[in-house]
Amino acid sequence: MPTETLIRNAYLVLEAQGPQPHSGSGTGWEIDGGWIALQDGRVHSVGTSSEPEPQAQTVIDAEGRLVTPGLVNTHHHMYQNLTRAYAPAVNGTLFQWLTELYPRWAVLDEESTYLSTYVAAAELLLGGCTTSSDHMYVHPRPKLIDAQIRAPTEIGFRFMANRGSMTRSVEDGGLPPKEVVQDEETILEDSERLISTYHDPNPGAMVRMSLAPCSMFSVSESIMRATAELAEKHDVRLHTHLAEDKDEDTYALEVYGRRPVEYLEDCGWAHDRTWVAHYIYGSAEENRRLASAGVGATQCPSSNMILAGDTADARALREMGMSVGIGCDGSSSADSADLWAETRGALLLARHSHGPASFSARDALNMSTLGSAANLGWADELGHLRPGACADLVIWESSPLSQAGVLTDRVEGWLRSGPARAQDTFVAGRRLVAGGELQLAGLDDVLSRHRTAAAAMQGVSA
Ligand SMILES: [Zn+2]
Repeated sequence: MPTETLIRNAYLVLEAQGPQPHSGSGTGWEIDGGWIALQDGRVHSVGTSSEPEPQAQTVIDAEGRLVTPGLVNTHHHMYQNLTRAYAPAVNGTLFQWLTELYPRWAVLDEESTYLSTYVAAAELLLGGCTTSSDHMYVHPRPKLIDAQIRAPTEIGFRFMANRGSMTRSVEDGGLPPKEVVQDEETILEDSERLISTYHDPNPGAMVRMSLAPCSMFSVSESIMRATAELAEKHDVRLHTHLAEDKDEDTYALEVYGRRPVEYLEDCGWAHDRTWVAHYIYGSAEENRRLASAGVGATQCPSSNMILAGDTADARALREMGMSVGIGCDGSSSADSADLWAETRGALLLARHSHGPASFSARDALNMSTLGSAANLGWADELGHLRPGACADLVIWESSPLSQAGVLTDRVEGWLRSGPARAQDTFVAGRRLVAGGELQLAGLDDVLSRHRTAAAAMQGVSA
């Protein structure tokens, strides 16, 4: 029986495992001139050019292009692509930006949530992302997460929906208006309903759920505790923003009488079910505590830089044993959902802080594949291309211009000499990008409706 798909003549990176021999062929985790066979949504087998290739129904000649595991996005707010580069907010601080936009987001409905998720997934596929989580914490209407799950399901994109929540509006000392927050009972009931409806714990799942109170500025301590208990009961993951802004230290001490990390620990979140977004301002001692507890962190390079904040010290956190993944963050802060660009951002930030020998392209690729997969509790199947892994992978375009002169290190060349786009993106063995084009029949219609919804939200004409 032939396998479904064979990709041959590739520079294969099976697993991003730090520095590798630059010209090694057929050794370690990188195979120059290798092949990879896909079957039933899985990596069937891999080999070097001297090993016999299996027969296949579809044979793709990669013509020497780089093939990596699909990138994994561990922090996003997809609905925000309805307010990208929104002029009244572009020069604000994080809090000014949020305060300006919350009233706009209060008009979110099922249609606009579905459309924004569809657009986000399509955009991510072109940047080589094959799995994304999404932190959806604005709930002016019920059933918005149901609406958003329709989009990746139609597309065939792997998705972890984070059931976000906010309980404290401006009237209770929080940031958001009351239209977008919910009471605790509603949040917990809806969380259980979503888990029982959509969460697939089985290997090869296309949709999983996690639970994700927004941040200490907008949720009560009791919902933090109750959410952790619910996550344990249903064996799902936990996510929140932590230590994203310097003001968080002052706020936490004033409101909770503790530092942010102590608060997280007291709420029952310091364990390996949890990954946190940003995590910039932990002390060295707090970093060690969270690393040893198994908490993961997501660095969001573009968002941190465009909002002019600091960024997680990914290198230091990784050295402590913490799994550090990559996220593009919400579309209205980063304004772009391109995991290649975020991976490059992580490379630049680490080297900017620690020097040229401190961090390689393979370290950065490790973050956006294995590190991100670990954030989602999914490293058994995602973030690598060992036989048996999910068949989520990217054949990267090899631009004759930007790759001209790249002769000695394919992975460094890929990340330094871009921009790089996906030539072909496979999710569960299905080719969703082919020859640089999205294979989505509904895309034009979705883009047209997205424009109408975005214009209505921003109060401008379409
Ligand atoms: Zn965020």
